[in-house]
Amino acid sequence: MAHVITSLCLRDGGCVDVCPVECITPGNPQESYPTFYIDPDTCIDCGACVPECPYNAIFPADDVPANFKARGGEFVNELGLTGNYSGTDHNGKAVQLSSTKQLAAGEVVDLTGSIKANADFYTKGPGYGK
Ligand code: SF4
Ligand code: SF4
Repeated sequence: MAHVITSLCLRDGGCVDVCPVECITPGNPQESYPTFYIDPDTCIDCGACVPECPYNAIFPADDVPANFKARGGEFVNELGLTGNYSGTDHNGKAVQLSSTKQLAAGEVVDLTGSIKANADFYTKGPGYGK
């Protein structure tokens, strides 16, 4: 098992610095891999990354919500979405995303597709053989 970065990730980057086994990678190219990803073969499930995420985007794989209920105002960031997001990461560097949607209060989304997205980045994508 491993931890998973879901589409609530807005590329803040804070999780990368705390991972003891350096298994978190920014998706690249961003147009194809919009979030950051955890290598499921390397993650030791220590949980250190979870509290670092300002968007609460990281879950143990078994706990990724299929029915995530938004408080309102959160963004999801995944392929196929077309909304724009502008913000800053944990170093104050600009983050621009064009694959987002802002959620309304009470809106329910399935985040479990992120489990495959994390695995695919490392088995088929540019994370392979990193
Ligand atoms: S801290 Fe959260 S938003 Fe930032 S890269 Fe990690 S998972 Fe994504
Ligand atoms: S749970 Fe631990 S090992 Fe896994 S990605 Fe997070 S910090 Fe890294």
